[in-house]
Amino acid sequence: MITSFKPTFSFTSKDGKELVKRDITLADDTATSLNVALWGERAQQADSVFEGNPVVCLKGVQVKEWQGGRAGSLMESGVMQLGSDLPDALRLKKWWEAEGSSTSLTSLSLSGDGLVDLRTLQSKAVPCTVELVGAVVNFKPTFSFTSKDGKELTKREITIGDYTGMSMTITLWGDRAKQDDSFFSNSPVIGIRGVMVKEWNGGRSGSLLEAGSLVFSPTTSEAQKVREWWASGGSTQSLTQLSQDGPGGGGGAAVSANIHTIADMRRAADCVGSSPEMYSIVCRLALVQTKKQGETQPLSYKACQEPQAGSGRPCNRRVGEDGFCAACDRVGKAAPRLNLRCRYSDATDSAWLTTFHEAAQKVLRMTAGKVTEVEDAEGRDNLEAMIRQTYFDTPFHITVRAKLDTYQGEPRPNTCCLDARPVSRTAHGRTMLGEIKDMLAKSSELVVV
Ligand SMILES: [Zn+2]
Repeated sequence: MITSFKPTFSFTSKDGKELVKRDITLADDTATSLNVALWGERAQQADSVFEGNPVVCLKGVQVKEWQGGRAGSLMESGVMQLGSDLPDALRLKKWWEAEGSSTSLTSLSLSGDGLVDLRTLQSKAVPCTVELVGAVVNFKPTFSFTSKDGKELTKREITIGDYTGMSMTITLWGDRAKQDDSFFSNSPVIGIRGVMVKEWNGGRSGSLLEAGSLVFSPTTSEAQKVREWWASGGSTQSLTQLSQDGPGGGGGAAVSANIHTIADMRRAADCVGSSPEMYSIVCRLALVQTKKQGETQPLSYKACQEPQAGSGRPCNRRVGEDGFCAACDRVGKAAPRLNLRCRYSDATDSAWLTTFHEAAQKVLRMTAGKVTEVEDAEGRDNLEAMIRQTYFDTPFHITVRAKLDTYQGEPRPNTCCLDARPVSRTAHGRTMLGEIKDMLAKSSELVVV
């Protein structure tokens, strides 16, 4: 059966010959498919010849290894007969009508690395070609450009995440990239075969090969596992990215994939350069700095809420005691914002991090308004008592940014906490179980029962 076909493609071979080629994909009732190249006049036949999943009989197909898989090429001396009525052809036709057209086919033209999760992929030798199942956690708009050799190309980058708490960016091409945004919205679970994974910009990212496939909402058990993870906390988990954004990729620095603990973070932050690095760590709030050199430290400040000219977003600059904003040059609306020095701990170490408003509200589990209200109505001691109750209470997934700043003329690494989210215990438990399994698998003395 011809399951799909590509448009004809003309090019000049290395030895100067004009060649015309068309790739077709064949499948049979073993639920296996193979890509075969047709050449010359056979390739130039009208598209309609290949439409409607005809049965084709080919003789003289040369099969070779190609990109880790196998692909065929019909030799010039070969035979191509469409619409055969041999018994084998009739059998295939029946199979296609009964089940073949809805079967998920295994392509011989893809390498056999098979299904992996993202954590396993992190330590796999690259380049490799794999099958992945994940939830679409992010996608970029479709993007068209002209390649170096003058071809018009369309691509779209999507990021998928799975229950190992990791995510990776995969580039889709052509028609797969052009599918409407709505296909990728609301975090659908997808199954993708034929993802070529390479090192890129210090991270890893994938590209879906033409011979690959992309299925939305597959019904496999792996897809079910991803769906359950997503529903039970995956959707709010901050994922460790395997991929780094490329130049012009936007979105600022990507999260470093190999920093998992506070000890790792401190080591990495000590030698950070001028371009910021991001880390994602699971830890707990250990302490909030409430005094500095014996003086009570303010936990909040008043920020100007006047809309900025142009963007209309709040100005957010710190206003003086009198409520005067130097940027807006007047006394306007102001709101309390938190700015804390917090000490975070995990099993490896602890670290003091400047914690900005959004993250600070989450680790204290109080809004800035509530903090000032308690302090004004019940006094500072009561506020501090409330804050102490949050210490070590909840594991948080925090996002940390480290960069080299200048402090009094000296370069100094500056680390701060940009985001904090309560850890989903189910997902985190699963991640840790995965780590234990990995450790056990690597240890030859231990036997897993
Ligand atoms: Zn202002």
